[in-house]
Amino acid sequence: MLPTRGYVAKGPASKLEPFTFERREPGPHDVLIDILYCGICHSDIHQARDEWGGAIFPMVPGHEIVGRVARVGSRVKRFKIGALAGVGCFVDSCRRCASCKQGLEQHCEEHLVLTYNGTEKDKKTPTYGGYSSQIVVDEKYTLKISPKLSLPNAAPLLCAGITTYSPLRRFHVGRGQRVGVVGLGGLGHMAIKLAAAMDAEVTVFSTAKAKEQDARRLGAHAFVVSKDPKNLEALANRFDFILDTVSAPHDLNAYLNLLRRDGALALVGASPEPLAVEPFSLIHQRRTLSGSLIGGIRETQEMLDFCAKKNIASDVEVIPIQQVDAAYDRTVNGDVRYRFVIDMKTL
Ligand code: NAP
Ligand code: ZN
Ligand code: ZN
Repeated sequence: MLPTRGYVAKGPASKLEPFTFERREPGPHDVLIDILYCGICHSDIHQARDEWGGAIFPMVPGHEIVGRVARVGSRVKRFKIGALAGVGCFVDSCRRCASCKQGLEQHCEEHLVLTYNGTEKDKKTPTYGGYSSQIVVDEKYTLKISPKLSLPNAAPLLCAGITTYSPLRRFHVGRGQRVGVVGLGGLGHMAIKLAAAMDAEVTVFSTAKAKEQDARRLGAHAFVVSKDPKNLEALANRFDFILDTVSAPHDLNAYLNLLRRDGALALVGASPEPLAVEPFSLIHQRRTLSGSLIGGIRETQEMLDFCAKKNIASDVEVIPIQQVDAAYDRTVNGDVRYRFVIDMKTL
Protein backbone atom coordinates (compact mmCIF):
# COMPACT_ATOMS: atom_id res chain seq x y z
CA MET A 1 0.00 0.00 0.00
CA LEU A 2 1.08 3.59 -0.61
CA PRO A 3 1.05 5.96 2.36
CA THR A 4 -0.69 9.15 1.24
CA ARG A 5 -1.16 12.58 2.83
CA GLY A 6 -4.37 14.53 2.55
CA TYR A 7 -6.84 16.89 4.18
CA VAL A 8 -9.91 15.43 5.77
CA ALA A 9 -13.32 16.43 7.09
CA LYS A 10 -14.04 14.18 10.06
CA GLY A 11 -17.66 15.26 10.37
CA PRO A 12 -20.14 17.77 8.94
CA ALA A 13 -19.24 20.50 11.43
CA SER A 14 -15.47 19.93 11.63
CA LYS A 15 -12.78 21.97 9.97
CA LEU A 16 -10.56 20.18 7.48
CA GLU A 17 -7.30 18.87 8.95
CA PRO A 18 -4.22 16.87 7.91
CA PHE A 19 -4.76 13.13 7.50
CA THR A 20 -2.77 10.11 6.36
CA PHE A 21 -4.28 7.12 4.63
CA GLU A 22 -3.30 4.46 2.10
CA ARG A 23 -3.82 4.14 -1.65
CA ARG A 24 -3.66 0.77 -3.38
CA GLU A 25 -0.50 -0.24 -5.23
CA PRO A 26 -1.11 0.44 -8.94
CA GLY A 27 -2.48 -2.66 -10.70
CA PRO A 28 -1.64 -3.53 -14.32
CA HIS A 29 -4.17 -1.00 -15.71
CA ASP A 30 -3.59 1.75 -13.13
CA VAL A 31 -1.64 4.97 -13.14
CA LEU A 32 -0.26 6.58 -10.01
CA ILE A 33 -0.63 10.35 -10.24
CA ASP A 34 1.26 12.87 -8.13
CA ILE A 35 -1.41 15.52 -7.57
CA LEU A 36 -0.25 19.07 -8.33
CA TYR A 37 -3.52 21.03 -8.12
CA CYS A 38 -7.07 20.35 -7.03
CA GLY A 39 -10.03 22.70 -7.53
CA ILE A 40 -12.62 23.43 -4.84
CA CYS A 41 -16.09 22.69 -6.21
CA HIS A 42 -19.20 23.80 -4.34
CA SER A 43 -20.12 20.09 -4.31
CA ASP A 44 -17.09 19.53 -2.03
CA ILE A 45 -18.71 21.94 0.42
CA HIS A 46 -22.22 20.44 0.13
CA GLN A 47 -20.72 17.00 0.82
CA ALA A 48 -18.13 17.86 3.50
CA ARG A 49 -20.94 19.65 5.38
CA ASP A 50 -23.37 16.79 4.63
CA GLU A 51 -25.92 19.16 3.12
CA TRP A 52 -27.20 16.52 0.68
CA GLY A 53 -27.33 13.73 3.30
CA GLY A 54 -25.55 10.37 3.28
CA ALA A 55 -22.02 11.73 3.59
CA ILE A 56 -19.27 9.22 4.41
CA PHE A 57 -16.74 10.39 7.02
CA PRO A 58 -13.82 10.72 7.28
CA MET A 59 -14.01 12.50 3.90
CA VAL A 60 -11.10 13.65 1.75
CA PRO A 61 -12.88 15.86 -0.82
CA GLY A 62 -11.63 16.92 -4.25
CA HIS A 63 -12.65 15.93 -7.79
CA GLU A 64 -10.93 18.53 -9.95
CA ILE A 65 -7.54 16.85 -9.99
CA VAL A 66 -4.52 17.49 -12.20
CA GLY A 67 -1.06 16.07 -11.76
CA ARG A 68 1.77 14.10 -13.28
CA VAL A 69 1.98 10.37 -13.80
CA ALA A 70 4.56 8.92 -11.40
CA ARG A 71 4.12 5.23 -12.12
CA VAL A 72 2.23 3.09 -14.65
CA GLY A 73 0.98 -0.51 -14.43
CA SER A 74 2.41 -3.11 -16.81
CA ARG A 75 -0.60 -3.00 -19.20
CA VAL A 76 -1.05 0.78 -19.30
CA LYS A 77 -0.98 2.05 -22.89
CA ARG A 78 -2.15 5.68 -22.90
CA PHE A 79 0.12 7.23 -20.26
CA LYS A 80 3.84 7.39 -19.72
CA ILE A 81 5.70 8.43 -16.59
CA GLY A 82 5.87 12.23 -16.46
CA ALA A 83 2.71 12.80 -18.54
CA LEU A 84 0.05 15.26 -17.37
CA ALA A 85 -3.13 13.60 -16.19
CA GLY A 86 -6.54 14.62 -14.87
CA VAL A 87 -9.18 12.95 -12.73
CA GLY A 88 -12.76 14.13 -12.35
CA CYS A 89 -15.76 13.12 -10.29
CA PHE A 90 -15.55 9.35 -10.72
CA VAL A 91 -12.74 6.80 -10.97
CA ASP A 92 -14.54 3.66 -12.13
CA SER A 93 -17.94 2.19 -13.05
CA CYS A 94 -19.33 -1.25 -13.98
CA ARG A 95 -18.30 -0.92 -17.67
CA ARG A 96 -21.08 -3.34 -18.71
CA CYS A 97 -24.42 -1.53 -18.38
CA ALA A 98 -26.07 0.38 -21.21
CA SER A 99 -24.93 3.74 -19.83
CA CYS A 100 -21.30 2.64 -19.45
CA LYS A 101 -21.34 1.18 -22.96
CA GLN A 102 -22.61 4.48 -24.34
CA GLY A 103 -19.83 6.45 -22.65
CA LEU A 104 -22.25 7.82 -20.06
CA GLU A 105 -20.44 6.26 -17.12
CA GLN A 106 -21.73 8.99 -14.79
CA HIS A 107 -25.13 7.28 -15.09
CA CYS A 108 -23.79 3.76 -14.45
CA GLU A 109 -26.72 1.53 -13.55
CA GLU A 110 -24.63 -0.83 -11.41
CA HIS A 111 -22.16 1.18 -9.31
CA LEU A 112 -20.42 4.46 -10.03
CA VAL A 113 -17.18 4.71 -8.09
CA LEU A 114 -17.14 8.36 -7.07
CA THR A 115 -13.72 9.92 -6.59
CA TYR A 116 -14.62 10.56 -2.94
CA ASN A 117 -17.63 10.19 -0.66
CA GLY A 118 -18.24 6.88 -2.41
CA THR A 119 -17.06 3.30 -2.35
CA GLU A 120 -14.80 1.18 -4.51
CA LYS A 121 -16.25 -1.57 -6.70
CA ASP A 122 -16.59 -3.79 -3.60
CA LYS A 123 -19.22 -1.23 -2.46
CA LYS A 124 -17.47 -1.16 0.94
CA THR A 125 -14.03 0.45 0.80
CA PRO A 126 -14.37 4.25 0.99
CA THR A 127 -12.80 6.38 -1.73
CA TYR A 128 -10.70 9.45 -0.98
CA GLY A 129 -10.42 12.47 -3.26
CA GLY A 130 -7.97 14.99 -4.57
CA TYR A 131 -7.07 17.07 -1.51
CA SER A 132 -4.15 14.67 -1.26
CA SER A 133 -0.64 13.98 -2.44
CA GLN A 134 -1.37 11.18 -4.92
CA ILE A 135 -4.13 9.03 -6.41
CA VAL A 136 -4.29 5.66 -8.17
CA VAL A 137 -6.78 5.41 -11.05
CA ASP A 138 -7.43 3.00 -13.91
CA GLU A 139 -6.11 4.59 -17.08
CA LYS A 140 -9.58 4.30 -18.69
CA TYR A 141 -10.89 6.80 -16.13
CA THR A 142 -7.88 9.12 -16.39
CA LEU A 143 -7.95 12.15 -18.70
CA LYS A 144 -5.18 13.59 -20.85
CA ILE A 145 -4.35 17.24 -20.22
CA SER A 146 -2.75 19.27 -22.99
CA PRO A 147 0.53 20.93 -22.01
CA LYS A 148 -0.90 24.03 -23.73
CA LEU A 149 -3.15 24.62 -20.72
CA SER A 150 -1.87 26.18 -17.51
CA LEU A 151 -2.23 23.45 -14.90
CA PRO A 152 -3.91 25.29 -12.01
CA ASN A 153 -6.36 26.83 -14.48
CA ALA A 154 -7.07 23.45 -16.07
CA ALA A 155 -7.98 21.68 -12.80
CA PRO A 156 -11.56 23.06 -12.61
CA LEU A 157 -12.29 21.77 -16.11
CA LEU A 158 -12.50 18.28 -14.61
CA CYS A 159 -15.82 19.16 -12.95
CA ALA A 160 -16.95 22.75 -13.63
CA GLY A 161 -15.81 22.43 -17.26
CA ILE A 162 -17.51 19.16 -18.14
CA THR A 163 -20.65 19.90 -16.09
CA THR A 164 -21.32 22.98 -18.22
CA TYR A 165 -19.95 21.67 -21.53
CA SER A 166 -22.13 18.54 -21.55
CA PRO A 167 -25.58 20.20 -21.39
CA LEU A 168 -24.49 22.94 -23.82
CA ARG A 169 -23.67 20.19 -26.32
CA ARG A 170 -26.71 18.06 -25.55
CA PHE A 171 -29.00 21.01 -26.25
CA HIS A 172 -27.06 21.89 -29.41
CA VAL A 173 -26.06 25.37 -28.32
CA GLY A 174 -24.51 27.32 -31.16
CA ARG A 175 -24.57 30.37 -33.38
CA GLY A 176 -27.77 32.38 -33.43
CA GLN A 177 -28.99 31.05 -30.10
CA ARG A 178 -29.77 33.02 -27.00
CA VAL A 179 -28.34 31.30 -23.95
CA GLY A 180 -28.85 32.31 -20.32
CA VAL A 181 -26.43 31.39 -17.55
CA VAL A 182 -27.83 31.67 -14.03
CA GLY A 183 -25.27 32.20 -11.24
CA LEU A 184 -21.76 33.46 -11.85
CA GLY A 185 -19.57 31.17 -9.77
CA GLY A 186 -17.27 28.29 -10.67
CA LEU A 187 -19.69 26.56 -13.02
CA GLY A 188 -21.25 29.79 -14.25
CA HIS A 189 -18.00 31.35 -15.40
CA MET A 190 -17.10 28.21 -17.35
CA ALA A 191 -20.58 28.16 -18.89
CA ILE A 192 -20.09 31.71 -20.17
CA LYS A 193 -16.71 30.94 -21.70
CA LEU A 194 -17.87 27.70 -23.31
CA ALA A 195 -21.20 29.01 -24.64
CA ALA A 196 -19.43 32.07 -26.06
CA ALA A 197 -16.83 29.79 -27.69
CA MET A 198 -19.75 27.89 -29.27
CA ASP A 199 -20.84 31.26 -30.75
CA ALA A 200 -24.05 31.63 -28.74
CA GLU A 201 -25.31 35.00 -27.50
CA VAL A 202 -24.85 34.75 -23.73
CA THR A 203 -26.82 36.57 -21.02
CA VAL A 204 -25.73 36.21 -17.40
CA PHE A 205 -28.20 36.34 -14.51
CA SER A 206 -26.44 37.17 -11.27
CA THR A 207 -27.41 38.44 -7.86
CA ALA A 208 -24.17 40.45 -7.76
CA LYS A 209 -24.10 43.66 -9.78
CA ALA A 210 -20.35 43.84 -9.01
CA LYS A 211 -19.73 40.87 -11.34
CA GLU A 212 -20.96 42.64 -14.47
CA GLN A 213 -17.56 43.67 -15.83
CA ASP A 214 -16.18 40.19 -15.24
CA ALA A 215 -19.16 38.62 -17.00
CA ARG A 216 -18.50 40.72 -20.09
CA ARG A 217 -14.77 39.99 -19.99
CA LEU A 218 -15.59 36.26 -19.80
CA GLY A 219 -17.64 36.56 -23.00
CA ALA A 220 -21.19 37.52 -21.94
CA HIS A 221 -23.15 39.82 -24.25
CA ALA A 222 -25.60 40.95 -21.58
CA PHE A 223 -25.80 41.00 -17.79
CA VAL A 224 -28.98 41.03 -15.72
CA VAL A 225 -29.20 41.63 -11.98
CA SER A 226 -31.55 38.84 -10.99
CA LYS A 227 -32.61 40.27 -7.64
CA ASP A 228 -35.17 42.59 -9.24
CA PRO A 229 -38.02 40.48 -10.73
CA LYS A 230 -38.81 43.28 -13.22
CA ASN A 231 -35.46 42.71 -14.91
CA LEU A 232 -36.46 39.12 -15.61
CA GLU A 233 -40.06 39.83 -16.60
CA ALA A 234 -38.79 42.12 -19.35
CA LEU A 235 -37.04 39.16 -20.98
CA ALA A 236 -39.96 36.67 -21.10
CA ASN A 237 -40.07 34.08 -23.92
CA ARG A 238 -36.68 35.04 -25.33
CA PHE A 239 -34.19 32.32 -24.58
CA ASP A 240 -33.45 29.10 -26.43
CA PHE A 241 -31.58 27.54 -23.54
CA ILE A 242 -30.80 28.39 -19.92
CA LEU A 243 -28.17 26.72 -17.75
CA ASP A 244 -28.93 27.12 -14.06
CA THR A 245 -25.85 26.75 -11.82
CA VAL A 246 -27.25 28.16 -8.59
CA SER A 247 -26.17 26.28 -5.45
CA ALA A 248 -29.05 27.39 -3.20
CA PRO A 249 -32.86 27.64 -3.29
CA HIS A 250 -34.15 30.17 -5.83
CA ASP A 251 -37.19 30.79 -8.02
CA LEU A 252 -36.95 28.42 -10.96
CA ASN A 253 -40.20 29.70 -12.48
CA ALA A 254 -38.75 33.15 -13.01
CA TYR A 255 -36.19 31.54 -15.37
CA LEU A 256 -38.52 29.01 -17.02
CA ASN A 257 -40.68 31.96 -18.07
CA LEU A 258 -37.75 33.37 -20.03
CA LEU A 259 -37.72 30.39 -22.41
CA ARG A 260 -39.25 30.65 -25.88
CA ARG A 261 -41.57 27.93 -27.21
CA ASP A 262 -39.82 24.55 -26.91
CA GLY A 263 -36.92 26.14 -25.05
CA ALA A 264 -35.12 24.17 -22.33
CA LEU A 265 -33.63 24.89 -18.94
CA ALA A 266 -31.00 22.49 -17.66
CA LEU A 267 -30.42 22.47 -13.94
CA VAL A 268 -26.90 21.65 -12.80
CA GLY A 269 -26.90 23.59 -9.52
CA ALA A 270 -27.75 21.17 -6.73
CA SER A 271 -29.59 23.13 -4.06
CA PRO A 272 -29.97 21.04 -0.91
CA GLU A 273 -33.54 22.38 -0.62
CA PRO A 274 -36.30 21.48 -3.13
CA LEU A 275 -37.28 24.00 -5.82
CA ALA A 276 -40.97 24.58 -6.56
CA VAL A 277 -42.17 24.32 -10.16
CA GLU A 278 -45.40 26.01 -11.19
CA PRO A 279 -47.08 23.86 -13.86
CA PHE A 280 -47.79 26.83 -16.12
CA SER A 281 -44.08 27.71 -16.24
CA LEU A 282 -43.71 24.49 -18.25
CA ILE A 283 -47.14 24.24 -19.89
CA HIS A 284 -46.95 27.65 -21.52
CA GLN A 285 -44.62 27.49 -24.51
CA ARG A 286 -44.32 23.70 -23.80
CA ARG A 287 -40.95 24.25 -22.17
CA THR A 288 -38.55 21.57 -20.99
CA LEU A 289 -36.96 21.34 -17.56
CA SER A 290 -33.96 19.03 -17.53
CA GLY A 291 -31.04 18.11 -15.31
CA SER A 292 -27.46 17.22 -16.13
CA LEU A 293 -24.76 15.35 -14.23
CA ILE A 294 -21.09 16.05 -15.03
CA GLY A 295 -20.23 14.05 -18.20
CA GLY A 296 -18.79 10.73 -19.34
CA ILE A 297 -15.10 10.06 -19.89
CA ARG A 298 -15.27 10.40 -23.68
CA GLU A 299 -17.06 13.73 -23.49
CA THR A 300 -14.75 14.98 -20.72
CA GLN A 301 -11.76 14.31 -23.00
CA GLU A 302 -13.59 16.04 -25.86
CA MET A 303 -14.16 19.07 -23.59
CA LEU A 304 -10.50 19.15 -22.50
CA ASP A 305 -9.38 19.03 -26.14
CA PHE A 306 -11.92 21.73 -27.07
CA CYS A 307 -10.57 23.93 -24.26
CA ALA A 308 -6.94 23.36 -25.31
CA LYS A 309 -7.82 24.24 -28.92
CA LYS A 310 -9.78 27.37 -27.97
CA ASN A 311 -7.41 28.32 -25.15
CA ILE A 312 -10.15 28.17 -22.52
CA ALA A 313 -9.50 27.48 -18.86
CA SER A 314 -10.77 28.56 -15.49
CA ASP A 315 -10.10 31.88 -13.73
CA VAL A 316 -8.56 30.73 -10.47
CA GLU A 317 -7.28 31.89 -7.13
CA VAL A 318 -4.55 29.48 -6.07
CA ILE A 319 -4.40 28.88 -2.32
CA PRO A 320 -2.30 26.84 0.11
CA ILE A 321 -4.22 23.91 1.55
CA GLN A 322 -4.15 25.45 5.01
CA GLN A 323 -6.69 28.02 3.73
CA VAL A 324 -9.25 25.48 2.59
CA ASP A 325 -11.82 26.29 5.30
CA ALA A 326 -11.62 29.99 4.59
CA ALA A 327 -12.01 29.22 0.88
CA TYR A 328 -15.16 27.20 1.63
CA ASP A 329 -16.66 30.14 3.51
CA ARG A 330 -15.70 32.57 0.79
CA THR A 331 -17.24 30.32 -1.88
CA VAL A 332 -20.51 30.08 0.04
CA ASN A 333 -20.51 33.88 0.32
CA GLY A 334 -19.98 34.30 -3.44
CA ASP A 335 -16.51 35.76 -2.81
CA VAL A 336 -14.50 33.82 -5.38
CA ARG A 337 -13.23 34.89 -8.81
CA TYR A 338 -14.07 32.22 -9.95
CA ARG A 339 -12.58 29.04 -8.59
CA PHE A 340 -10.28 28.28 -5.68
CA VAL A 341 -7.56 25.82 -6.58
CA ILE A 342 -5.32 24.19 -3.98
CA ASP A 343 -1.59 24.11 -4.68
CA MET A 344 -0.80 20.63 -3.46
CA LYS A 345 2.87 21.30 -2.82
CA THR A 346 1.69 23.20 0.28
CA LEU A 347 0.29 19.96 1.72
P1 NAP B 1 -20.28 28.49 -6.74
O1 NAP B 1 -18.95 28.79 -7.31
O2 NAP B 1 -20.52 28.73 -5.30
O3 NAP B 1 -21.36 29.29 -7.63
C1 NAP B 1 -22.73 29.26 -7.34
C2 NAP B 1 -23.35 30.60 -7.75
O4 NAP B 1 -24.74 30.52 -7.49
C3 NAP B 1 -22.88 31.79 -6.93
O5 NAP B 1 -21.71 32.34 -7.44
C4 NAP B 1 -24.04 32.75 -7.05
O6 NAP B 1 -23.93 33.47 -8.27
C5 NAP B 1 -25.23 31.83 -7.16
N1 NAP B 1 -25.94 31.75 -5.88
C6 NAP B 1 -25.48 31.24 -4.71
N2 NAP B 1 -26.41 31.33 -3.76
C7 NAP B 1 -27.49 31.92 -4.33
C8 NAP B 1 -28.79 32.27 -3.87
N3 NAP B 1 -29.16 32.06 -2.60
N4 NAP B 1 -29.65 32.82 -4.76
C9 NAP B 1 -29.29 33.05 -6.04
N5 NAP B 1 -28.06 32.74 -6.53
C10 NAP B 1 -27.19 32.19 -5.69
O7 NAP B 1 -20.67 26.96 -6.97
P2 NAP B 1 -20.25 25.98 -8.18
O8 NAP B 1 -19.04 25.22 -7.79
O9 NAP B 1 -20.32 26.71 -9.44
O10 NAP B 1 -21.46 24.92 -8.09
C11 NAP B 1 -22.79 25.36 -8.32
C12 NAP B 1 -23.77 24.25 -7.99
O11 NAP B 1 -23.63 23.21 -8.95
C13 NAP B 1 -23.55 23.59 -6.63
O12 NAP B 1 -24.82 23.29 -6.06
C14 NAP B 1 -22.83 22.31 -6.97
O13 NAP B 1 -23.00 21.29 -6.03
C15 NAP B 1 -23.48 21.97 -8.28
N6 NAP B 1 -22.72 21.07 -9.15
C16 NAP B 1 -23.44 20.19 -9.89
C17 NAP B 1 -22.80 19.35 -10.79
C18 NAP B 1 -23.59 18.45 -11.66
O14 NAP B 1 -23.04 17.51 -12.23
N7 NAP B 1 -24.88 18.69 -11.82
C19 NAP B 1 -21.41 19.40 -10.88
C20 NAP B 1 -20.71 20.33 -10.12
C21 NAP B 1 -21.37 21.17 -9.26
P3 NAP B 1 -24.13 35.08 -8.34
O15 NAP B 1 -23.19 35.65 -7.32
O16 NAP B 1 -23.76 35.39 -9.73
O17 NAP B 1 -25.58 35.33 -8.04
ZN1 ZN C 1 -17.75 19.30 -8.73
ZN1 ZN D 1 -22.27 0.79 -15.67
